[in-house]
Amino acid sequence: MLKFKTDELEQEFQRIDNRLKVLLYSIAGFISYKFGKDFIITCLFRDTPGSVHKYWRGADGATGNLTKDEGDEIVKFINPTCIYGKGDKLTIFDERQRTSPGWTGPHFHVQVNPLVMSYLSR
Ligand SMILES: [Zn+2]
Repeated sequence: MLKFKTDELEQEFQRIDNRLKVLLYSIAGFISYKFGKDFIITCLFRDTPGSVHKYWRGADGATGNLTKDEGDEIVKFINPTCIYGKGDKLTIFDERQRTSPGWTGPHFHVQVNPLVMSYLSR
């Protein structure tokens, strides 16, 4: 099930890009069906210049409730299936390990591109 760390995030969810909503429900459904666990959203809007979070097209989800293998399975399923734009970037950034100086802890960063069209590969 898709859950939210705070009530404010649940309110913000109404404003995010519709494609991101569908994507987050898909990931939550995958996690629920495969592992019987929840996908917990920890960040949606963030006023960081150059970040997709600033444009309501980015979301962060907790990974602390998933095993390493479960997390790997999610990334392996979503990235080849949900194509970000021309495929030049990833739909899920796997940030379970530190990847950037501003890293805030283990999570998945999920994003959709600014184009009208998004693609499913199968
Ligand atoms: Zn993020």
